[in-house]
Amino acid sequence: MDYKIETYEAFDDHIDETEPEVRVWGVTWSPSVAFERIDPIGYRVAMSDWLSHMEVAEQYCPDCDLFLWDACACDSPTQRGDAQ
Ligand SMILES: [Zn+2]
Repeated sequence: MDYKIETYEAFDDHIDETEPEVRVWGVTWSPSVAFERIDPIGYRVAMSDWLSHMEVAEQYCPDCDLFLWDACACDSPTQRGDAQ
């Protein structure tokens, strides 16, 4: 599936904050760019895993494709576990 550009940017920021730069022959690339270009399928799988983790941590809403530090348009954050 495709995500909002902001979702890709959040994943890229996460990679760039947690992985070292890729350096070859004096040329450097950000790890997010290197990952996505060298192994685009692996990148997608890793992003999906990360979003699942963020959803469990209640920081991402897959229905809205939004992180909860932005405005989530549905009620999912308030529906966890306490339904009557
Ligand atoms: Zn939502």
